[in-house]
Amino acid sequence: MIGNWALGIGVGGLVAWLGWRSALLSRGGAVSLGACIVITFLAGGWAWGGLSVLSVITIGLWARFRQGYKRTLGERFHRGAQQGWIQVLARVGWATTLAILYGLVAEERGILVGFVGALAASTADAWGTELGVLSNQMPRTIISPRRLPAGEPGGITLLGIVAGLGASWLLGFAGLLFNAIKSWIAQITLDPVLLWLPIAAMLGGMAGSLTDSLLGAAAQGIYYCEHCKERSEYRLHTCGRRTEQVRGWAWLTNEGINMVCTLVGAAITAGAVSWLARFGAGW
Ligand SMILES: [Zn+2]
Repeated sequence: MIGNWALGIGVGGLVAWLGWRSALLSRGGAVSLGACIVITFLAGGWAWGGLSVLSVITIGLWARFRQGYKRTLGERFHRGAQQGWIQVLARVGWATTLAILYGLVAEERGILVGFVGALAASTADAWGTELGVLSNQMPRTIISPRRLPAGEPGGITLLGIVAGLGASWLLGFAGLLFNAIKSWIAQITLDPVLLWLPIAAMLGGMAGSLTDSLLGAAAQGIYYCEHCKERSEYRLHTCGRRTEQVRGWAWLTNEGINMVCTLVGAAITAGAVSWLARFGAGW
């Protein structure tokens, strides 16, 4: 327990500080991310904390990748477009809640798998966005053959999909690896059902990030800033002026969609693991 405290505060503090120093997180974003990581270490131990750190660090690295070029794209990438506490909680809030449930309520396999799925979906979506905008291909929406400007919500590219597949497989594989090491240290047999984690997390991660793109294209409130001649996801543009709504539902924000993405990721991954365990055993 003391070890988990020390590890959580050390690693969580370092990650939060790095995110704040590199201007990816606002002060509130850094504090809430640090708190979520500490809670995850405390509730689930190093394997759980390690997985959330893997997700956050890889997202941060891709966000820094060709950052100068991305700043010329959508407002999500503008200088000063930092992740605040709402954005952070939308991405890791559900995973942190599952960690708390596991630590306080029941050490159920389904909760563990859902946790991996929630992180897989959030990571897949973030990698897909950070890499997808670098594609030469103009993004499409899943709902129509319409093309979208790079960086606008709801657009998908092949590069983004491949990045999402890579991210969710990595999270599933790391989830399996960390649990295998944990069992090996404790000298207990690894739950064989967890061997399905990489495939299940890939399914859950893709389902989550495609739901994200679908809602972004079909339902998210999108605005237009007359002054900057630019589309925006917010009622108040980064320039400080009020925007006009051009499509979608005003109450459905990008943060709300990210939350749905992680919920779908957790549910599909948990469902896929139990389905694969039941029907895959006979292969
Ligand atoms: Zn503006």
